[in-house]
Amino acid sequence: VSYAKHEKGDSCQGCLDRLLEGHNEIVEAFHFAKARHPDLHTSWVYRGPEDQEKARSEGASRARFGESPHNKKPSEAMDLFQIDENGHAIFDGIFCAKLNREFIEAGFKLKWGGEFKSLGDYGHWELIGNKGA
Ligand SMILES: [Zn+2]
Ligand SMILES: [Zn+2]
Repeated sequence: VSYAKHEKGDSCQGCLDRLLEGHNEIVEAFHFAKARHPDLHTSWVYRGPEDQEKARSEGASRARFGESPHNKKPSEAMDLFQIDENGHAIFDGIFCAKLNREFIEAGFKLKWGGEFKSLGDYGHWELIGNKGA
């Protein structure tokens, strides 16, 4: 699968392509965050077998295909990062902690990867239940 490249601005086709494979709660959470932080993007929503194996070999994930919420269809996880003025990707744990508080305050039922004991995964969020359920 290939996705469009990330673009600056309110609407990024690269993100929208990835979000097509996401659970509606994930998509809603992304748009909530993007409205507050326009420089926000998603690197991964769904990860298929090949990409999951690659992530595992690179140490970005410990899960085999089928074990990660990224492998569900629709995907129940998303990985977020920022793009700065010069087009460089930023992975900022402090920002992610702040964003996680915003998700919680807004009532999203998301578990943040920054709280994982085994692998601090600051850009990762996954569903723990449905909002309002
Ligand atoms: Zn994007
Ligand atoms: Zn992730």
